Amino acid sequence: MSSNTGDEEPDVPGDGPGGDIGQALLDQVRNDLDDVEVALQRLDEGNYGLCEACRQPIGSGRLAASPAARYCDEHEHVAGDGRGPGVVQSG
Ligand SMILES: [Zn+2]
Repeated sequence: MSSNTGDEEPDVPGDGPGGDIGQALLDQVRNDLDDVEVALQRLDEGNYGLCEACRQPIGSGRLAASPAARYCDEHEHVAGDGRGPGVVQSG
């Protein structure tokens, strides 16, 4: 038996009153920091600015808006969908 939801949800503490804005903000900052660290690593490897899906240069405009972007405009929604790159179907 294997139930694969495919949902990628962050760890959320049980049920809270939902008034912990500070914690939510902290989580967001941590996520952003994570992205930046990945970007720095890619910079080190010489892959910075390249889409992880198609290896094409990510638009400079997109990088300016999101310096830690890992996918080009075309594949960003695919990655954000949680399905990952490589499942693009044409037809
Ligand atoms: Zn791409």
